[in-house]
Amino acid sequence: MEKIKKIGVLTSGGDSPGMNAAIRAVVRAGAYHNIEVFGIYQGYKGMIENNIKLLSPRDVSNVLHRGGTFLKTARSEEFKTQEGRKIAYENLRKNEIDAVVIIGGDGSFKGANQFSKEFAIPVIGIPGTIDNDMYGTDYCIGYDTALNTVVEAVDKIRDTAGAHDRLFFVEVMGRDSGFLALRSGIASGAEAVLIPEKETIIDDLKKYLANGYNKKKSSGIIIVAEGDDAGGAYKIADLVKKDFTNYDIRVTVLGHIQRGGSPSAFDRNIASQMGINAVQGLVDGKSNVMVGLINRNIVYTPLEQSAKHNKRVNPTLLSTIDILNSY
Ligand code: ADP
Repeated sequence: MEKIKKIGVLTSGGDSPGMNAAIRAVVRAGAYHNIEVFGIYQGYKGMIENNIKLLSPRDVSNVLHRGGTFLKTARSEEFKTQEGRKIAYENLRKNEIDAVVIIGGDGSFKGANQFSKEFAIPVIGIPGTIDNDMYGTDYCIGYDTALNTVVEAVDKIRDTAGAHDRLFFVEVMGRDSGFLALRSGIASGAEAVLIPEKETIIDDLKKYLANGYNKKKSSGIIIVAEGDDAGGAYKIADLVKKDFTNYDIRVTVLGHIQRGGSPSAFDRNIASQMGINAVQGLVDGKSNVMVGLINRNIVYTPLEQSAKHNKRVNPTLLSTIDILNSY
């Protein structure tokens, strides 16, 4: 096996806070191993357009605490085609890049898996998504920061909900996954949480509001994951409103504030650890794997698996909300 001399690093798909911390760790771990690290700007799009620049360890000063990604991210339809991936590979060869670190979510890893199967180039993934639904890791970069952003926002909404006796439906991100909704619901004392992993039965929600909630409480918060099977917060609020004309029902969609902001200490820590171990993995000859943290240990999972199997919410957690509101 040839010694790796040059690594490319890119961020792809949806951004998440802490991606900068991961890029920094890859660049500095590269320097530690005497490997040059090249920043590939705008994800796979930049790989196809040869938007690639050498990053020195000093180029990643002052980024650890910043949200977003200074390498920028993008979605690339061209990379989904074999011709597009071939151009991307030729650009890597032009820059003499021996291996690539991809920071992103499951879509990006599907692309990475396909790419490394077609061309003999080692790739390693670092999970970055506020959805936290990647198989092969307990935590994805950005999830903890987003969770804290949601909890802070819901705390504020609760103040005004209480002042006006209002029932709020708060929509949080999560097209296919309810981690953010469920964990923010527990942390902010929500009265109910609706997630894609569990069928939402509107009649049950109405019964809950009529029987329990109505008698005990004058205000409340219901967290809705955007991908809930019954629809988003506006749709569900409308369905409920019809039968509860006496309720003052409001809807807040938190939107993109969930993706931004300075990463939490937790996200900076896991991003640093994963970045270092992505480079270590490549040095050790690993390829086509995602680096993750399971029970606080670094674990490498084949991209084939992490890109296919979405991690599921622990079902026992679903009862937490019910128990805490059953008095
Ligand atoms: P995320 O990584 O956040 O899940 P996307 O699903 O948007 O984001 O994927 C990011 C990019 O990864 C896409 O724009 C595309 O370039 C690439 N990609 C996704 N799926 C595939 C695939 N099946 N084959 C090749 N490339 C893919």
